Amino acid sequence: MFKIAAPPLFGLAATTATEMIIAIDGPAASGKGTLGKRLAAHFGLRHLDTGLLYRAVAKALLDAGHSLEDRAKALAAAQALDPARLDERTLKTHAIGEAASIVSAYPEVRAALMELQRDFARKPPGAVLDGRDIGTVIAPDAQVKIFLTASAAERARRRVAELKSSAEPADEAAVLADIERRDARDRTRAVAPLKPAADAHLLDTTHLDIDAAVRAAIDIVEAARTE
Ligand code: C5P
Repeated sequence: MFKIAAPPLFGLAATTATEMIIAIDGPAASGKGTLGKRLAAHFGLRHLDTGLLYRAVAKALLDAGHSLEDRAKALAAAQALDPARLDERTLKTHAIGEAASIVSAYPEVRAALMELQRDFARKPPGAVLDGRDIGTVIAPDAQVKIFLTASAAERARRRVAELKSSAEPADEAAVLADIERRDARDRTRAVAPLKPAADAHLLDTTHLDIDAAVRAAIDIVEAARTE
């Protein structure tokens, strides 16, 4: 049985004994999405890749020919976002990831996307959310928080393999430079910067393949459940 969350989640009702929220945060291309999907399937929870929300805001601006610096248009795009219509295939490109890290630094965009993430998290039977600020801002009362890391070089290598498999051209040095720039932007922004929550479990996957990373994460969750 999972523990009852105390204090109550988000000032609303506490999760019931069978609900669980797992927060996964980490830098670009650290494998959060894949791990999130696999953990959700394993524990019978719903999964939200919150990066898709910021990617969708950025893509809406680019598609409409607006500048990524146009904060009013970014806010309007965030407010108009329909989370049921996120097309992972068109959002998961390298360029949209870069653009997302620009619009995600706007506090008003983050505020506009906050409630839908919290709503998703608290619906039964619970959820796995992955992003940059899940354990620190979106679900500070999550029962389990995992901060996923891997060296920048390893993350670039994995991202290049992934891009090549989807027929996107990829140059490893350029991808590494982009990843490092994006991490720096995400870590140093004023609002909800990327950082591990004080009570997060650090999981470094530099030398782990995905199956080993999933096993390690399941062990972390199981240990937290029995605490
Ligand atoms: O995780 P992903 O690479 O899809 O995220 C794209 C960008 O969206 C990140 O670089 C980050 O700037 C932003 N993001 C965020 N907070 C989240 C999820 C993503 O700021 N919870």
